[in-house]
Amino acid sequence: MSTPPKIQIGSFTVAFLTDGLWRNDGGCMFGVVPRELWKREHPPDAQNRIRLNLTCPLIVRGADAILVDCGIGNRLSDVERKIFDHGDGWLPGHLRALGMELGDVTAVICSHLHFDHAGGLVRRRDSGGFESAFPRARIFVQKGELDIARDPRNERLRAAYRHAEEILAPNLARIEAIDGPTEIIAGVTAVPTGGHTRDHQVCVVNDAAVGASFAHLADIVPTRSHLRGPWNQAYDLDALTTMEQKSLYLGRAIADGTWISFAHDDQIFAARVLNDRGRIVLGEKVPVPDL
Ligand SMILES: [Zn+2]
Repeated sequence: MSTPPKIQIGSFTVAFLTDGLWRNDGGCMFGVVPRELWKREHPPDAQNRIRLNLTCPLIVRGADAILVDCGIGNRLSDVERKIFDHGDGWLPGHLRALGMELGDVTAVICSHLHFDHAGGLVRRRDSGGFESAFPRARIFVQKGELDIARDPRNERLRAAYRHAEEILAPNLARIEAIDGPTEIIAGVTAVPTGGHTRDHQVCVVNDAAVGASFAHLADIVPTRSHLRGPWNQAYDLDALTTMEQKSLYLGRAIADGTWISFAHDDQIFAARVLNDRGRIVLGEKVPVPDL
């Protein structure tokens, strides 16, 4: 396995780990956008699924190793593994390629608690049952996201969080419910956006001393194709808020050269963005290597 690519954001190193490639329905990923448009950049298979990533940036400075999201993990049933074309999860192997173990992660920031972002909070034991995947990590989730995941109020939310107790139970002692923008360590902040879920959050890294910054926009801009304003997921509970937040973060990234990373793009982990006569285009990139 190749070593995960890295960028330097002032005194922070950001390594782009992935929990692996997987597949999901293209229509769900692009909402109101016609298949004829999205299929050019994301060719669907016979089941209308497109190839996606599970990008989890690891932010390292000194003794701190902060993971943003943790992928699907190895908890899926055999049927779900076929549906999503995903196996045991690659995150432990990618950490090992950096000379680290799951136990070396000091914090996990969960953008939200959907299975493809927080499933990796647990590992299935050979002997049955689940254990915490990151035994030393503080786990940061917005309080509203945690409340809805634990007590979904309708059928749609119940389906979206049907795995929640399984992934939360072994971690309850170390989950920190945060309320609003929260600095995790100096220079690393979790900031709510809403949009995809009511309390979805992104992670912003900023080394003010050198003016370098990075943001993992999670499901606000899940692939390079979602840089376009109206290209949003059918899963978004409030697509207009997703559009507003996207516009805010991309506008800032264009203005100050912030690196942004995509949760699900199968070709590009991260990029800088530019305004090309009113169109947002990719500048410098961190491509996804052959995995
Ligand atoms: Zn997602």
